[in-house]
Amino acid sequence: MANDSIVDWQFSGNEEAKEAAGAALSAYSSKLFALCDPNGPPILPPRVETAETSHTAEKAVVYSVLCGLGNAYAPSIGLPAAKKAVAEYLNRDLPNKLTANDVFMTVGCKQAIELAVDILAKPNANVLLPRPGFPWDMVRSLYQKLEVRKYDFVPERDYEIDLESVRAQVDENTFAIFIINPHNPIGNIYSEAHLKQIAELARELKIMVVSDEVFRWTVFGSKPFVPMAKFSSIVPVVTLGSISKGWTVPGWRTGWVSLHDLDGAFRNTKVVDAAKQFLEINSKPPTVIQAAIPTILEDTPEDFFIRRQKYLKDKADYAYTFVKSIPCLTCYQKTEACTFLWTELNISCFKDIKDAEDFCEKLASEKNLVLLPGKAFGVTNWVRHSIDMDSATLQDAFGRLKSFCISHSNTGEASLEDVNGVN
Ligand SMILES: *Cc1c(COP(=O)(O)O)cnc(C)c1O
Repeated sequence: MANDSIVDWQFSGNEEAKEAAGAALSAYSSKLFALCDPNGPPILPPRVETAETSHTAEKAVVYSVLCGLGNAYAPSIGLPAAKKAVAEYLNRDLPNKLTANDVFMTVGCKQAIELAVDILAKPNANVLLPRPGFPWDMVRSLYQKLEVRKYDFVPERDYEIDLESVRAQVDENTFAIFIINPHNPIGNIYSEAHLKQIAELARELKIMVVSDEVFRWTVFGSKPFVPMAKFSSIVPVVTLGSISKGWTVPGWRTGWVSLHDLDGAFRNTKVVDAAKQFLEINSKPPTVIQAAIPTILEDTPEDFFIRRQKYLKDKADYAYTFVKSIPCLTCYQKTEACTFLWTELNISCFKDIKDAEDFCEKLASEKNLVLLPGKAFGVTNWVRHSIDMDSATLQDAFGRLKSFCISHSNTGEASLEDVNGVN
């Protein structure tokens, strides 16, 4: 029905999520990808997800579809078989065993983070988050209007958590310290001794530890991965995880929360009830994937992870070494986990770059290469490079980065010898 008159509709969108959405990684990446030239050289990193997952995982999902195992709604707390499989999987590394009742299935690790924030957020409460850190904890806290306090790291000690900065931030309204291990974006992992120190400090401060361990399968340095829950006899631990990164299937949207609650601290403080209530009113991961979880976790051959770790280690070695030849960039920590390199920009060494965001914008428009600025992770003057691409593409990406830095550095080509010398 054609009608020329303008209708003064009685509805409009609210702005409740505006501030939080601005802190999401995708807010930064979409803006940068939009600056790239679609008619120029291939845009890097490639946006299309080409990574393969394990054949075992693929077959498990196909089986679940063909046998109709996932056509029905799953219980709000998760499919019993999936909960049991996650508990058994995590128990492999734990002295204090979980049961299926301690595990809840979530829509990826993101919903696991949302659960941890939402069920604990209260007026006047505050939470400790890492600086830098993966922004989803921050996004959810902003959305919940929860006060966020940041703790720092000690670069000289392999980027361990600065325990003094933790102690300095905590007051009687702090409920938890969130840790990310292996750490995105720094790419390090914590030693068993350091995790024990964190547990002891958290106990002294009477706060819980929420540990995001979504990258536990992509570890390729000299240190083994140790789960935080190993110390759940010292402090209550909430572990967050998913199959997204380990199996390179973030689109499958399936993760979990596990409550390691030795003395009943979570039960007595109604944390368990709150988790169930949260899941009652939120969406669930697809039943079809939940039904495949037991096979995915139990039967994926070790070889799949070993190959993936080797692939990433080669990329990390290449990128770390190559960065030494690039002026104005310094990488202090050789990545030992995850899929990134985290480097500092020496802004004063550029002739026409204001800050890391300016750097990333100019790099995207001039070279069709997207790095994420540190601001997305809560710090200035740093950038995060993706290294999860085949060798030829990675060489292309770092080659473009080098030529960009040379042309914008205030000494240009001439100083390169010196840069190489001191790095
Ligand atoms: C990718 C990522 C997540 C989100 O995981 P999904 O399972 O895709 O929701 C959470 N935490 C960290 C540290 C991540 O890198």
